[in-house]
Amino acid sequence: SDHTLDYPSAPEHIDWAADHFPAFSGTGKTPEFADVGCGFGGLLITLAPLFPDTLMLGMEIRVQVTQYVQDRITALRATSSVASTSTLTPTAYQNVSVVRANAMKFLPNYFSKHSLSSLFFLFPDPHFKSRKHKARIISPTLLAEYAYVMRPGGIVYTITDVRDLHDWMRSHLDAFPLFESVDEETLRLEGKGPILDAVYTSTEEGKKVERNKGEKWLACFRRIEATRRN
Ligand code: SAM
Repeated sequence: SDHTLDYPSAPEHIDWAADHFPAFSGTGKTPEFADVGCGFGGLLITLAPLFPDTLMLGMEIRVQVTQYVQDRITALRATSSVASTSTLTPTAYQNVSVVRANAMKFLPNYFSKHSLSSLFFLFPDPHFKSRKHKARIISPTLLAEYAYVMRPGGIVYTITDVRDLHDWMRSHLDAFPLFESVDEETLRLEGKGPILDAVYTSTEEGKKVERNKGEKWLACFRRIEATRRN
């Protein structure tokens, strides 16, 4: 039921400017930020104006939720361009878009090797039962794909209110040779504070956790250069 035929066969076959980012036509730019399971799009909408020259793509498996995000972006683009005569930049929200896609199956169809600088997994579905763990968005097989699409130095951000899922994501990322754990303080010193703030608070699920006074566990990882074996 993944409508395989609807997927691009390779990232090179996507016309990003025509299909997603018309204001960037002629730049040759491709998405650098990817929000996997973006839900209602809170992270993307928050980050878009902070990094106006960076293209960002959300991936969401639910058709209606994807449509909602698409409509939200369309509306923001329209209002922002009206405001552009005064203060806002004419490219506000032109750098953000969304696709309906099963990220567990088709991520490499959208992103080419080393193209992403930030990859987000915010409050992913926990799949509590052991027999369902293979459905989790972080797994050894998928980590190889994430490492492939990420450029060395890029950051994977994960956050969840489910302690068991946090431990699971952290242990798998820790065990994977192409990722190394990086703490929040280090990232803030590197200027990633606004991204971290958005990771904590900008998404609909994150806000829900706050309302319920739940805890949030963050774990971030840097994509490292492949080490040469001696
Ligand atoms: N990241 C958002 C937030 O923090 O508000 C949404 C969190 S919600 C708990 C998890 C989202 O991941 C849902 O919208 C779900 O439809 C989506 N999702 C689950 N599996 C997915 C997959 N394989 N590919 C893309 N999206 C997926």
